[in-house]
Amino acid sequence: MRIDVVTIFPGILRGPLAESLLGRAIERGLVEVGFVDPRDFTEDRHRQVDDEPFGGGPGMVMKPEPIFAAVESLGPDRGRTILLSPAGRRLDQELVRELAAEPRITLICGRYEGVDERVVEGLPAEEISIGDYVLSGGEVPALVLIEAVTRLLPGVIGREESHQRDSFEDGILDHPHFTRPASFRGMDVPEVLLSGNHAEVDRWRREAALEKTRRNRPDLLG
Ligand code: SAM
Repeated sequence: MRIDVVTIFPGILRGPLAESLLGRAIERGLVEVGFVDPRDFTEDRHRQVDDEPFGGGPGMVMKPEPIFAAVESLGPDRGRTILLSPAGRRLDQELVRELAAEPRITLICGRYEGVDERVVEGLPAEEISIGDYVLSGGEVPALVLIEAVTRLLPGVIGREESHQRDSFEDGILDHPHFTRPASFRGMDVPEVLLSGNHAEVDRWRREAALEKTRRNRPDLLG
């Protein structure tokens, strides 16, 4: 899979993309991540990517021309073109699965008060939000999306770290996990997990997952 990120701050993503699971996936060629900086597509001396909002008000808005030029430099085969935006469709595991099936996507990171609306209409770009809160830029949301998508790509996660049982994979939360020691500060691991009886363990995990979902996210159970 190929992911291109349109950002004026590629440095925010470079560190996390070099570490751990993402770093290994990139090193092994399972996912390729490129950057395009809208500043490289400005024509003025100050390489200005923002301007005052029409209609007045505080803050600056990202200009359309450098973003259009940056995105269009990737060619017509850039795949789904996504603007990270708090006003977008909320990212969930279903949308992550949908994106992980794409061969290529392009992510646009906003800054300041946001991006000129013509980016959404004219490119066009679909808007995706990582949640109902506001961050200062689209780089961290882009990273969230990249990490969520990458861990679903074939070969990225080994058997021992399988995502099949992760939260949301079957519509409920993951079951609680325990490791050694069996007893810690007076808290004991449920007996059944030490029993070696796989059918019993599976039954316990299913019930514990449902119980946790009821307690923490009853909305998932409808
Ligand atoms: N004025 C905008 C609003 O209220 O919708 C917020 C702009 S925010 C300060 C700047 C940029 O951060 C946005 O253009 C977007 O790219 C990114 N951003 C902030 N919160 C986000 C979220 N929850 N999901 C996705 N992107 C977000």
